[in-house]
Amino acid sequence: MGHLQRENQQTIYDIAVIGGGPAGYTAALEAARYKKKVILFERGEMGGVCLNEGCIPLKSFLHVSRIYRKSFAHGLKPSEPSIEYIKKTAQENIKKLKNGLLYSLKTAGIEIVNAEAEQIEKSEFYKIATSKGAFFSRDVIAATGSEQVIPSINGLADAIQKKKAVTSREFFELREMPDEVLILGAGAVGIEIASFYTDMGRQVTLIDSKERILGDIDDDILQLYMNQLEKQGMRFLLGVDICEVETEDKVCVIYRKDGEIDEVSGDCLVIAAGRKPVGNFNHVEGIYICGDANGKSMLAHTAIQEAAAAVHKILGEERQADYSQIPAVIYSSPELSWIGGNESKNTAADVSKKTMDFSSRYVIDADGVKGCIKIIKEKEKILGCQIVGDGGSELIAFMLSGNLDKIVYPHPSVSEILREVL
Ligand SMILES: Cc1cc2nc3c(=O)[nH]c(=O)nc-3n(C[C@H](O)[C@H](O)[C@H](O)COP(=O)(O)OP(=O)(O)OC[C@H]3O[C@@H](n4cnc5c(N)ncnc54)[C@H](O)[C@@H]3O)c2cc1C
Repeated sequence: MGHLQRENQQTIYDIAVIGGGPAGYTAALEAARYKKKVILFERGEMGGVCLNEGCIPLKSFLHVSRIYRKSFAHGLKPSEPSIEYIKKTAQENIKKLKNGLLYSLKTAGIEIVNAEAEQIEKSEFYKIATSKGAFFSRDVIAATGSEQVIPSINGLADAIQKKKAVTSREFFELREMPDEVLILGAGAVGIEIASFYTDMGRQVTLIDSKERILGDIDDDILQLYMNQLEKQGMRFLLGVDICEVETEDKVCVIYRKDGEIDEVSGDCLVIAAGRKPVGNFNHVEGIYICGDANGKSMLAHTAIQEAAAAVHKILGEERQADYSQIPAVIYSSPELSWIGGNESKNTAADVSKKTMDFSSRYVIDADGVKGCIKIIKEKEKILGCQIVGDGGSELIAFMLSGNLDKIVYPHPSVSEILREVL
């Protein structure tokens, strides 16, 4: 159905999308593909956290740091890339991707309003109030994203104020490369930032209150993964109760472990302690909440899937986001990739496991970093897969798709490992 003009000439949109991150721009593009009249509100930068201060800049940082580290394995002794150069590379990548995104939104005929959706009310249509006026729509998809969690720890606010503690957002803006880095939170973002600094030859300690990190990963895979990271110099301080943060020249984290008080200090503390949804539109009847804003998965590709599902629901299809097939990747060196169920929760399943030494391409590229692939099967159906090793991020999405044994894998390629392990 096309859009209507109200008596007062106010346009009625078919779908209003709040937020221009992966969930928001996917919803807008998908709706426009089905000829819906779409309006998209973004209060900050188009592309959201993912493009501007998340996935893309962090992978750009890791791309440079990885080349730097790997060059030493082959006897090269390059001078260290400056932090300004690393930031510039990330900004160039962001710009290219943003230009592409803006082009797609424009050619799809999506109307963009650079303003905050302040309030949504439902009557005959949804009314969206902004500083640029009120807009009306038949349906609303709220994709307002998430923000960083700052744990309440004594002294942390002081460290933030003195710029000795930063969130992942300010990490991208640092002007100097610290020598000793503390990272609060050993989840995906914390480990990736740790991997960047380790590549750059810095001393890195990851601190986490959990004794056992990355709950979905089986013990054997986790052990191999952490061993490889530790070999490169990353240090894990797990199962600690943080008592206080003190800031002078250095930033010092005082903690209790096994009943003993101890401390660790560094030049900078990066806070990577998780994210929480933002947006207060949950109470508005009938609107769809997608992406980080619903707090379900906090991954860009989940956000994309949920947004597409919401649009198809509005179109009248019974389509749900499928959470059973969501891959996860930590883009450290080596990468850790996983999907579906694990061995510890599927004790009756068959398990097939191979080291990545059976992949000729992996051996050529990995410079001695050990890898492994594990597949969890029931009869011939793959229930889950976990991979330690670069290249896993490209394979993992296909692991539950079936018919993998029918594929001819190019030689030499990392994917050849599947012939060995299936
Ligand atoms: C450092 C870092 C690295 C990451 N790496 C990865 C990764 O490798 N892979 C991965 O899958 N995920 C990664 N993530 C997570 C990923 O960034 C998020 O899952 C993803 O951005 C969620 O998309 P979204 O559209 O739901 O929200 P967001 O990207 O947060 O976008 C929400 C947008 O809504 C706008 N907005 C909010 N409220 C309003 C309002 N009222 N009116 C108008 N606009 C509004 C915001 O300005 C924002 O642009 C990473 C996150 C971080 C912090």
